Amino acid sequence: MKGISKTAHAGLSPLIPAVLAPPEVVTQAALGFIPPPLNPSGARLETKELAPGVYGLLSSKPPVDNSGFVVGEHGVLVIDAHINGAMAGLIQTAVRQVTNKPILYVVNTNYHGDHTFGNYAFPQETLIVAQQKTAEIMRGFEREKQLLLPTVGNDPTVFGDVRLRLPDLVLDEYLELDLGGRVVELHHFGHGNTPGDTVVFVPEARVAWTGNLILGEGTIPFLIEGGAGAYLETMAKFTHTLEVGTIVPGHGLLTSGAILGRYLPYLSELIESVRKAIRAGQNLDEAIAATPLGQQYTQDIAGSDPPLVAQFAAFRAGIHRWNVWRTYQGMKGDPTSIQHLARGLSLASV
Ligand SMILES: [Zn+2]
Repeated sequence: MKGISKTAHAGLSPLIPAVLAPPEVVTQAALGFIPPPLNPSGARLETKELAPGVYGLLSSKPPVDNSGFVVGEHGVLVIDAHINGAMAGLIQTAVRQVTNKPILYVVNTNYHGDHTFGNYAFPQETLIVAQQKTAEIMRGFEREKQLLLPTVGNDPTVFGDVRLRLPDLVLDEYLELDLGGRVVELHHFGHGNTPGDTVVFVPEARVAWTGNLILGEGTIPFLIEGGAGAYLETMAKFTHTLEVGTIVPGHGLLTSGAILGRYLPYLSELIESVRKAIRAGQNLDEAIAATPLGQQYTQDIAGSDPPLVAQFAAFRAGIHRWNVWRTYQGMKGDPTSIQHLARGLSLASV
């Protein structure tokens, strides 16, 4: 296969639903959690050139998904396919404004429908690329539609046109794709927001697309599926492996590698606080009260208008409560996750 310098495994192992939050858990909107508003109606994707041939596609309606593309001599690689055919069409229109070269690859940074449902609207010749666990979980198409519903205002017509298109090419931890005079690296550092989070990195430009693993400026990690220790370990690997300049997050405002200085301490403080609460015999409500979102994580984003900032602050506070809840639940319920957490903590102190 032209342009692929490291082989990927094509086989898919059985589904691993055990690590996921069941739909009823997510839709319960537990503990003040606000589902991210991802309905794309009215959203535009603004093209921003970050380096020659390297483009971010930034949603005009955050947190509706961002995307992006990289152009080489042979063709184009697109990062994330968006939530439906119309949005995938906007991505292709943006590419066509820059180049007529073929779209060789679409990389899905995670299995969520807002990153993958647009796959089917790309040409048949385009190879869809994803991490192995992402590819496996994508088979749960009906379940994913159900999970996404609250994020699009319970309007199923948003993805009414969507047909499931699974990846053609899967990676485990690493894959390099050569677009001709330009190499794009795909890294899977471990469990984060989802089990198969993938970072797309253009080394010469030091630009990374991080999907949901690292969200936009001003955010904290979102442990939608729990696993604080594993997330911390993943972030530590990310920090040790890549020297990132610009980050195009899956959702929210452009950010930079400096956000790691926020994500790493947030995760280790969360783990430590919940562990202390459990040792002190506190119940969930007490643990939540004993783990407020630190002031260093609540600073407002400069330049944003006040209603948006207030909305964002409420959303972030809901995510934090969710994170405490999932971490508490993980440490209480599963002794293996405590070992995982301990491993994550030792990494964080490096
Ligand atoms: Zn997302």
